[in-house]
Amino acid sequence: LESRIRELEARMPKKYPEVKFLTYKDRKRILITGGAGFVGSHLVDHLMMEGHEITVADNFFTGRKRNVEQWIGHENFELLNHDIVNPLFIEVDEVYHLASPASPPHYMFNPVKTIKTNTMGTINMLGLGKRVGAKVLIASTSEVYGDPEVHPQPETYWGHVNPIGPRACYDEGKRVAEALGYAYAKQENVDVRVARIFNTYGPRMHMNDGRVVSNFILQALQNETMTIYGSGKQTRSFQYVTDLVEGLIALMRSNYTQPVNLGNPEEHTIEEFASVIRELVGNTKSEIENLSPVEDDPKMRRPDISRAKKQLKWQPTVPLKVGLEKTIEYFRRELQRSKHSERN
Ligand code: NAD
Ligand code: UDP
Ligand code: UDP
Repeated sequence: LESRIRELEARMPKKYPEVKFLTYKDRKRILITGGAGFVGSHLVDHLMMEGHEITVADNFFTGRKRNVEQWIGHENFELLNHDIVNPLFIEVDEVYHLASPASPPHYMFNPVKTIKTNTMGTINMLGLGKRVGAKVLIASTSEVYGDPEVHPQPETYWGHVNPIGPRACYDEGKRVAEALGYAYAKQENVDVRVARIFNTYGPRMHMNDGRVVSNFILQALQNETMTIYGSGKQTRSFQYVTDLVEGLIALMRSNYTQPVNLGNPEEHTIEEFASVIRELVGNTKSEIENLSPVEDDPKMRRPDISRAKKQLKWQPTVPLKVGLEKTIEYFRRELQRSKHSERN
């Protein structure tokens, strides 16, 4: 028990990160749904440090208290254990609506719940926006483009989505969320923003969700075979999470109301990812192996970000190697932490 208490004490935040002081006039009351998740918690950090009052509503399905523990007890911060499928009555100026599982194993775990979260949850946030006059930013996804027939994907592309496939709960859920956003904007004058987010990585991303960045880093750190599905010639583009957070904030604060792609247009083959990660981890005995290809694996994915550049003056700035190094460092610490807690 004593070692458990010491472990908990060591995890208690010693001191809050530095927070700017804002006068009442400049300080906003901001609700972040899904704020205990990967992207949400980085958004919390950024907006807290700017001096705003932040409320997080999260049901901890894929999020964790640990992602926001640095703020627990701070007078500008509140954490609500709340499922967004149920109404929420609070007074805020802005809503960043991020609540939704994001990786395929998570959103396919309970497809009905994924649809409810993205539809009923979004209706509740738009209802709140309507009642209190708050701006509502909806976190949509590049998956609204489905298996795209246009490359790269501009916002004007309507997509190629299977409405009854295994991904439908997520991509159709997000498409309804967008449709709801524009219906509430038109009919009820809610001030709505829609961000179409492309593949994002960084610290606090889920370790075991089977996606390529987490798989390759974990494999390299543990001297396991790095598994490339298929030839490895397929391409993806990954943005670092702090770039995304800056894009979301720029979009919220802009007057631009059409959907905006937020992603990094730098495209790499999966083979390249494997060797860059192997090199950055260093000292690994991992071999790279080609396994059989995955069914329906998109050959290419890359955002067209001309709209974000023009309307938001935003573009990603964190180079792949810098972002990967930070992510590898995080995974290294997490592995040590889990080994440590196994021993105790
Ligand atoms: P995440 O799983 O880490 O975070 C989602 C958060 O929402 C979690 O904290 C989870 O507990 C919470 N949540 C889920 N259902 C909820 C409900 N019913 N009520 C309250 N809280 C609920 O995922 P993330 O990567 O941080 O994604 C955040 C948002 O960005 C999601 O809307 C996702 O669709 C979108 N997005 C992410 C990516 C990416 O690459 N990470 C890409 C495109 C879109
Ligand atoms: N809602 C909410 N918080 C609010 C205001 C509304 O969660 O502050 C919910 C409300 O319970 C409703 C939904 O948002 O289920 C949509 O609200 P709207 O006003 O559009 O619909 P109505 O209440 O007329 O059905
Ligand atoms: N991939 C891979 N090895 C892995 C995990 C994924 O080669 O261990 C490939 C996968 O086939 C796909 C790409 O990496 O071509 C990106 O996969 P991910 O699941 O990360 O994202 P998405 O396909 O949704 O973009």
